[in-house]
Amino acid sequence: MKPVYTADELAELPAGARLGVVGNPIAHSLSPPMQQAALDAAGICCTYVRLFCERGEGDFAALVQGLRRAGFVGANVTVPFKKEARALADGADALSRLCGASNTLVFGEDGVYAYNTDGPGFARAVQELCGRPLGELRVALLGACGGAGSALAAQCVLEGCPTLALVNRPRPELEGLAAHLRPHAHGTQVRTHTFAEEGLAAVIGAADLVVNATSIGLAVGDATPIPGEWLHPGQIVYDIVTHDTALVSAALGRGCTASTGRSMLLWQGALAFEHWFGRLPDIAAMSRALYGEG
Ligand code: NAP
Repeated sequence: MKPVYTADELAELPAGARLGVVGNPIAHSLSPPMQQAALDAAGICCTYVRLFCERGEGDFAALVQGLRRAGFVGANVTVPFKKEARALADGADALSRLCGASNTLVFGEDGVYAYNTDGPGFARAVQELCGRPLGELRVALLGACGGAGSALAAQCVLEGCPTLALVNRPRPELEGLAAHLRPHAHGTQVRTHTFAEEGLAAVIGAADLVVNATSIGLAVGDATPIPGEWLHPGQIVYDIVTHDTALVSAALGRGCTASTGRSMLLWQGALAFEHWFGRLPDIAAMSRALYGEG
């Protein structure tokens, strides 16, 4: 089996290949070991592969057609194709419709259905971390305009969080995102802030849950996206970066409950599996495959 298949190599897929993750780049994706462990633990005879897609017009749709012809159950979709995944689907869940992006496709006889499991995966991870539903928490979301950030913002609105502070560097999309979400925000007060804004410390201090959805922390040695001194004991800090970050260390040092995004990665995968097979997979097996724990 090859580490990555392109659209031109679908004929070379292993006989049992029925699921995969589509992206560009894709060689780094952690989904194959995680999903393969889930499939093996469930006794489902299926191989999960990495699929590289070119970025030209129509390339993603053509690859999806090829996967359907090859008898795939569905696919995960990652950067930069989540918007295209939503756009080509015949139907979609509420989060995909609200944020315009999907990370999971299910191929049915009557068409393609799109789901976004990043948002619900995040909600499950937060509840696991603090024992409270996301919908009860006042949220400050750093990096709200990013791909992951805008999905999490939409999830907070769908869950009815009392307040949602959208924080980003200044750009027109920030007000656009808030304006898009407000009509759907029954019970959620949506406000916008920039990192440079005076008074941001008070906004962060007033949040029950502070989420880092910026890419700060991805590179080893990155600083925190906000000063650690702004955090106080009792707050929950969730950094969606999947390895240990300066923000998580600072938050733990300040007496917060804090986690990296590993649990979100696991849950978005588990919920995708549930959409394909109608049951949740063995989370501990997935976790062991990813991190050697669980
Ligand atoms: P993206 O679309 O490129 O968005 C990046 C966000 O980070 C934008 O809001 C960007 O702000 C902000 N940002 C980047 N550098 C910054 C800086 N120096 N100061 C302030 N803000 C900055 O990326 P993405 O796909 O959303 O991914 C974001 C992070 O989430 C990555 O670390 C990724 O690995 C992680 N992630 C984790 C999971 C999981 O399952 N745990 C899932 C998806 C993504 P501007 O708008 O100003 O550029």
